[in-house]
Amino acid sequence: MQYRFEFRPYRRQFKRTLQTSHGSWDIRLGIILCLTDESARSSWGEIAPLSWFGSETWEQSLDFCSQLPVEITDQTIFSIPANLPACQFGFESARDALTDSNHPTPDTLTYSGLLPAGEVALHQWQILWKQGYRTFKWKIGVAAIQDELKIFHALLQALPASALLRLDANGGLTKQEANEWLRACDRVGVEFLEQPLPVGQFDAMLELSDRYSTQLALDESVATLDQLQASYQQGWRGIFVIKPAIAGSPSRLRQFCREHEIDAVFSSVFETAIGRQAALKLAVELSRHNRAAGFGINHWFNEDDETWLAHLWKDL
Ligand code: MG
Repeated sequence: MQYRFEFRPYRRQFKRTLQTSHGSWDIRLGIILCLTDESARSSWGEIAPLSWFGSETWEQSLDFCSQLPVEITDQTIFSIPANLPACQFGFESARDALTDSNHPTPDTLTYSGLLPAGEVALHQWQILWKQGYRTFKWKIGVAAIQDELKIFHALLQALPASALLRLDANGGLTKQEANEWLRACDRVGVEFLEQPLPVGQFDAMLELSDRYSTQLALDESVATLDQLQASYQQGWRGIFVIKPAIAGSPSRLRQFCREHEIDAVFSSVFETAIGRQAALKLAVELSRHNRAAGFGINHWFNEDDETWLAHLWKDL
């Protein structure tokens, strides 16, 4: 199959700066691409890299798009190298959208509501609960552990019995702190603890997952499909957080998840509606155990996606 290929780079400012353990984030840089087939049908894809999480940089994806000819083929799409995982996702999902006859709507999913770090979480959960969220994610490893443990217990006291709480340390705990958190989690019960230790400490996380009954999830450690496969091969049988937009080829991801029946939680990287739709499609197909998906369906940007995309690409 042959396609006409067009692309537009974008810069999109967040409503407010996003604070992560990797620093401040103000502008989401990405690329929207369009494929038009021989019968003049078009579909869109999104390249939304996150280099500090392990994908290529925006500049690398832009270089890749710029050197491609106007006419590309399936061969072009399926030979995008593994060091450009966000490009693999963008091109392949645009191609899938053209060739798929059925587009399942992602209405079988539930979502987790992201609580702000610190004490604010004690008030914020109620707002999210009223919006229908039943799974909450709270960032830890931000303040002193004793202060966070106090808030944690207050939060569990406050949350209704049917609520689920997951914790995300973003690799910010020491081994000693991770043990302390897991002892506390084992006593009260949480859905899981995400990425307690930094990426380099895989063996220590494997040990922690054996020692405690609380489930552990890897996120930063399994950003791309290659890392996902390596962690599985090294014995990880806990939860995998998958960010489809940076994981790489959707067809290879599908194959891996099905073959190994892994327990996966799907999550966004603040892509637009174009990338999100393709990512949610994978989440619907591949989620097991009814895990809530971590997609920012709150508004992080001033303009809604439709208005913004129409501005970027008039005939979209
Ligand atoms: Mg995480």
